[in-house]
Amino acid sequence: MKKFRIVFRSVGSVLTCSPAAAAVGSGTNILFALCAAGSVWAMAELLKGLETGADIFAFAAAFFGFQILRRLLNVVSDLAWNVGVDEKCRFHFGMELSRKASSIPYICFEDSGVLDQLQRASDCVEDSVITDMVYNMLTMVECVLTIIGLLRVMIGYSIWYLPLLLAALVPYLISRIRMGRDFYQLAWYQASRTRKRDYFFSLFLDPKSQKEQRVFGFGGYLQGKWEHERRQAAEETLAFREKDSKRLAWFEGLVTASYIACILLSFLMVMRGSIAAGVFGAGIFAFKDAQDAAKSLFALMAHSFEEVMEADNYYCFLDLSEEGQGGKTGTIKGKIEVRNVSFTYPQTAGPALNKCSLEISAGESVAVVGENGSGKTTLCKVLLRLYRPDEGEVLIDDIDIKDYAKETLASQVSALSQDFCEYHLPPRICIGIHSPEAAESDAKLLEVLSKAGLERLAALPELDRFLGREFDGQELSGGQWQRLALAGAMAKDSPILCLDEPTSALDPSTEYDILSEFIKAGKGRTCIIVSHRTGLCRMVDKVIFMEKGRISGVGPHDRLMKENKEYAAFYQEQAKWYTNVSV
Ligand code: ADP
Repeated sequence: MKKFRIVFRSVGSVLTCSPAAAAVGSGTNILFALCAAGSVWAMAELLKGLETGADIFAFAAAFFGFQILRRLLNVVSDLAWNVGVDEKCRFHFGMELSRKASSIPYICFEDSGVLDQLQRASDCVEDSVITDMVYNMLTMVECVLTIIGLLRVMIGYSIWYLPLLLAALVPYLISRIRMGRDFYQLAWYQASRTRKRDYFFSLFLDPKSQKEQRVFGFGGYLQGKWEHERRQAAEETLAFREKDSKRLAWFEGLVTASYIACILLSFLMVMRGSIAAGVFGAGIFAFKDAQDAAKSLFALMAHSFEEVMEADNYYCFLDLSEEGQGGKTGTIKGKIEVRNVSFTYPQTAGPALNKCSLEISAGESVAVVGENGSGKTTLCKVLLRLYRPDEGEVLIDDIDIKDYAKETLASQVSALSQDFCEYHLPPRICIGIHSPEAAESDAKLLEVLSKAGLERLAALPELDRFLGREFDGQELSGGQWQRLALAGAMAKDSPILCLDEPTSALDPSTEYDILSEFIKAGKGRTCIIVSHRTGLCRMVDKVIFMEKGRISGVGPHDRLMKENKEYAAFYQEQAKWYTNVSV
């Protein structure tokens, strides 16, 4: 039942995507089937006419007409499906998949099961499985019509053709269905291995990994890992194909035996005078055509079985529940409140955030500090609504963040994560990603670039020149990429800024200059900066000190130094490394 639902859903999707081309494609498939039966009928009449001496011109013309029409219909059908339907559908399904991927909760990307599911769904889109399946269904209808047409002609000559045909084709059908099911199970089981194999391969193409492979010399080791995954997958597929080819050879033998039996039967019938000699050829011709059509039908049935299950992967991904979001819009002032928030990553034992509570007034600057692994990044992600708390709530301007419309938060919260993307694009676009308005103003671009310490790029001709090696642009250092990302965050005129280790790639004194500039520029905006360096704490209004997933201190730096022994020890531990920072 479920399989039928998938088929109907697929047909619906294809028809919605490209109704005209799909209708033309289906029409040609049906006409094609009628032509097959028509040409057998014309051939039989032609052979009969030759024998009896009747006028055969009309039948000959009909026979050749049907043959030519079949070729023409083939071309039209190919055009309609490949150009009209396939391209449009692939685009449509790809768009649906990317829309879905951006609507499911971000935490799903931490779940390897969901990643495997995404891999299977995108394979389904890449391989045009749904369009192929609908096309194959129509081709199956075409085959059925062809077989019915041919059977009518054959049975008119002798009923014995029917059992001969079925004797070989029924086992053939069973073997194809079994093959389709087994092959799908193999592909399912291989999905996670395929993802691993592709991941290893992607490392060979990744410049960052290439650099490390050369320096540390582990390229060969990685190649071995890739080769292992690749070989295992290839061996499994090969073993499967080998087994199937052997199975198929038996059934092909059976089909050939039944064809030979058909020739003998036709010969016997002519000898006995139960059919005319002219019908001998037509009977064999129809039998062979029916066998071929049935074989195609069964191969398509088996393949469709596989395709239905692959399409199911796509629809299952599409049916994953989406991240709920409210419709609250309007201007945000920037007051943030975290109430009793806990959060645990999937498949981990303990919570990364444990009953955290804090308040940040609108316009306040805050530093979130603590040891590695204390929960700073997780807190940031919860504040940005990337993760939903398991318990508790986060409010912005007294409204739960889950009630805000996605666009409202995205347009009024500026963020920079520690694993930010290096976009190999001109500075104008890199900043435009954060703020399309800033990208329109040369003056604004130049201002944020120089505030982020990128004087070299803060010149008019540089704004539209590509950066990075992807498109032959100039490469930047790690610190410069980070400054550029920071310039983007600065350019966005948002009431809330949330920066996770924004200066980790900079040396301490540059970090100090840039962060001071940043906090000055962010005056009046709520500014949350995560850092494992404590130099920042003296620049901000308030410090949030985290330990083992808990907030163990909140307040201005000077007060925390006096009142929170753990914070004071943490600060002093770092301060002794920097002689210019007085304790
Ligand atoms: P910090 O930013 O303070 O270094 P994080 O917020 O990154 O700390 O991590 C807090 C805890 O959550 C750590 O124990 C870390 O191992 C764990 N953690 C972080 N990211 C993940 C993840 N994607 N999956 C599972 N555990 C994670």
